[in-house]
Amino acid sequence: MRRPMVAGNWKMHGSEAANTALLTELDLRLRVEWPIDVAVFPPFVYLADIARRLRDSTIEVGAQNVCAEAGGAFTGEVAAAMLKDVGCALVIVGHSERRRWYHEDDALVARKFAAALGAGLTPVLCIGETLEEREADKTEAVVARQLDAVLATNGTAPFAHAIVAYEPVWAIGTGRNASPAQAQAVHAFVRRRIAEQNANIAGQTRILYGGSVKAANAAELFAMPDIDGGLVGGASLGAEEFNEICAAAAVRH
Ligand code: PEP
Repeated sequence: MRRPMVAGNWKMHGSEAANTALLTELDLRLRVEWPIDVAVFPPFVYLADIARRLRDSTIEVGAQNVCAEAGGAFTGEVAAAMLKDVGCALVIVGHSERRRWYHEDDALVARKFAAALGAGLTPVLCIGETLEEREADKTEAVVARQLDAVLATNGTAPFAHAIVAYEPVWAIGTGRNASPAQAQAVHAFVRRRIAEQNANIAGQTRILYGGSVKAANAAELFAMPDIDGGLVGGASLGAEEFNEICAAAAVRH
C-alpha cells in the first residue's frame, strides 16, 4: 500500500515569525500516529533553520526548486547536495510556476530530477496542463510529454520512491480544484504510462494531486484510488486547515 503524503508548498510566503507560529501550531495539531508522510517546502532562506527545528519531528522538509548543476559558477543557484547538507529530504522540480515564469522546459526539469536523485533527495515531479490545453483535449498528451522527458533520461526505477504531483495549472491558486473524477482520470493515466515500462514500480509510485486542495475537498479527492495525497499551496499556510487536510489523508490509509 502506498503511504499517503501531504506536502505543503509555501511558495514565496513566510517570515521568521510566521514560520515559527505555523510550525508550532502544526506540531500541536498533527497526530504522530497518523500513517501518512507530511512535508513542508519553505523558501530557500528558511530551509536550514526549519530543517534543524524539525529534525526530531515527523514533518519532513523539502525545497521548492534546485539547480541542475552540481556546483560551481552559477550565481544565485542552489545545488542539490547543499539542500541535502542542510537537512532537506525532498525537492519539487517542474512546478508550473517555474515552467511558466522562469521558462523551465521538460529537458531542464529532467536534469533537475536527476540532480535531486544524485544527491539522495526525493524529487517531487510536477506535471499538469493549462486550461487551454485541457479545452483542446490535450491533457494526456501534455502530461505524457512532461513525464516521458523524465522517464527517458532517468529511467523507471527512481519512480519506486520519487513522487509525481499532478497539478492542473488552471487549478493552482484559483480556488477551482479538479473534480475527483477529473483528477483520478489523469492519475490513472500517469500510473498506466509508468506501468507500460514497469507495472511493479508503477504500483509503488505516489501520485499527489495539487490545485486548490483545501479541507473542504481533500477527503473526496483522496478517496480516489490513484490519488495518494496532496501537494497543497495556499491551504498549507494555515495550521488548522493543513491539519484537516492531513487528517483526510490519514483516513485514506
Ligand atoms: C501549489 O502551489 O503547488 C498549489 C497546488 O497551490 P494551491 O494549493 O494554492 O492551488
